[in-house]
Amino acid sequence: MSTSAVNTASVTVIGLGPMGHAMAGAYLDAGYEVTVWNRTASRADDLVTRGAVRAATVEEALAANEVVVLSLTDYAAMYSILGPAASALAGRVLVNLSSDTPEKAREGAAWAAEHGARHLTGGVQTPPSGIGSREFSTFYSGPRDLFDKYQDFLKVITDTDYRGEDPGLAALYYQLQMDLFWTTLTAWLHTLALANANGISVSEIKPYAAETLGGMSQFLDFYTPRIEAGQHSGDVERISMAVASLDHVVHTTRDSGVDPTLPAAVLETFRRGAAEGYEEDSLTRLFEVFGRGAAAK
Ligand code: NDP
Repeated sequence: MSTSAVNTASVTVIGLGPMGHAMAGAYLDAGYEVTVWNRTASRADDLVTRGAVRAATVEEALAANEVVVLSLTDYAAMYSILGPAASALAGRVLVNLSSDTPEKAREGAAWAAEHGARHLTGGVQTPPSGIGSREFSTFYSGPRDLFDKYQDFLKVITDTDYRGEDPGLAALYYQLQMDLFWTTLTAWLHTLALANANGISVSEIKPYAAETLGGMSQFLDFYTPRIEAGQHSGDVERISMAVASLDHVVHTTRDSGVDPTLPAAVLETFRRGAAEGYEEDSLTRLFEVFGRGAAAK
């Protein structure tokens, strides 16, 4: 537990979905006095059995502690909950671990300030099972002094990674990770469907999928300095090759009776790169093609 002079021995947690519930549990395990509030009050039942205090109202939850951890679906939920109790926000520190866009996080921080509260944005990078472990990390952004003051307190949830003063930054880093996470896992699920349609089981394909995904960091190592140097020459692979390869993937998918939407969208992106004159360049040209925005959207 923290040895700092700040009174962080107690905390309020608002929002007891799987994440907030795990956070309240982690603070109880760490010896904190925990006050909880949730729209669906029954989600607090087992936490109360473990020693948490169930606040009867949002105002009571805010009055109980200086530091209030918010774990909600999005920022709209925060306004729904805290809006009617805004007069009780003065002097509070809101650690907002609800995910949303960077712009929503900036607006949320400004809204908190209007009501006399200070706001730290957080982006948690683990499912509930990792809450309470420093093997995982959470992005934070907002006032540096606030982060420094409460760093030990925050480390009860996970390790911390401070990204800067802009309240939108933690949300941005979180969304960057989510971009990679969702597209990668969806690609894996598509591969499983294709394998399955051809009589190959999920567990049979697992070691091969793991090898391909595990090897991705080598591609990152190889391509990162080249991208930073603007070096997109087709000395290793070319967009024309990728178009042919993806065409094979799309046809294999169609022949197998599997939905080809996902690889077809990737093929279209490579075709766009080719149409822009980059057929002989590396796939890394797509970094620039993406950056120019979608032609028709
Ligand atoms: P859930 O969406 O399951 O639960 C969030 C909480 O928000 C619940 O307490 C729910 O109350 C409350 N809530 C939602 N809308 C309203 C509303 N209009 N008014 C009042 N309360 C509302 O989310 P999780 O617990 O899974 O996640 C919390 C945050 O953490 C999300 O932003 C999520 O993106 C992020 N996150 C989640 C991860 C995960 O693996 N679950 C991993 C990393 C980040 P009620 O119980 O009454 O429905």
